Amino acid sequence: MKILISADMEGIAGIVAEDQVDSRSGKDYNWARKIMTEEVNYAIEGAFAGGAKKVVVNDSHGGMRNIVPDLLHPDATLITGSLKELSMVQGLSNDVDGVFLVGYHGRRGTRASIMDHSYSGRVLRRLKINGVELGETGVNALVAGEFDAPVLLVTGDDSVCREAEDLFEKVYTVEVKKGLSRYSAECIHPKKAGEMIKKEAEKAVKDISTFKPFRLESPYRLELELISSSMADGAQLVPEVSRLGPTTLAYTHQDLITVFKVFRAMLTLGGSSA
Ligand SMILES: [Zn+2]
Repeated sequence: MKILISADMEGIAGIVAEDQVDSRSGKDYNWARKIMTEEVNYAIEGAFAGGAKKVVVNDSHGGMRNIVPDLLHPDATLITGSLKELSMVQGLSNDVDGVFLVGYHGRRGTRASIMDHSYSGRVLRRLKINGVELGETGVNALVAGEFDAPVLLVTGDDSVCREAEDLFEKVYTVEVKKGLSRYSAECIHPKKAGEMIKKEAEKAVKDISTFKPFRLESPYRLELELISSSMADGAQLVPEVSRLGPTTLAYTHQDLITVFKVFRAMLTLGGSSA
């Protein structure tokens, strides 16, 4: 059995601020990447305890080089760096049986969610597929669904746990902190949070046969609201994308991975036209 762990940073226990998650200017960044790596290790231990034979960790935050390779559990492999075709869920393939989303946060527009955003905080205000508002949790679960892999476990702040429970028929969640505002939270001690994650990860893997991959119906209509009209001007350069309004765009295709790639191309072009 093979488990893919997508590891983000904003939802790690103890982390609440930009200067902890920004590799360029963050004075607490080196501390934060260490506790991120340690938290991921608990998830890896849980996966193996539950019966996984192979665990792949995909670093999913920012430049995607946050996890400290020599501090990571030696029996897992690490996908590090960017650009990656499947971004936050690189490593998905037909032999992946289940996915963990560790260190996640609420989608953009969620109140008291630690550094809430969806893929690009600078560019994206709102994202819908087939009318369903999604954040990173939902989009990444849809991509995993294309590989028949259900999301088994979501860890992060309370907002992302509720978001996952609302979207998925069944999912294990571990709330490592309660958001008080965008940049403050009451946090469980990283060691305690890790133990909880290990326990739930083990249970989720043992229970894997009862999960269903997350899917919406094809064709997929993607609707994006970007922050500014100049960003939308850039995103509109992607062929077949239609402009709905000054900052809103839409794209429809029957293949979900194509929609995902177009989505990311729109964010890239939008970001470069800011
Ligand atoms: Zn994120």
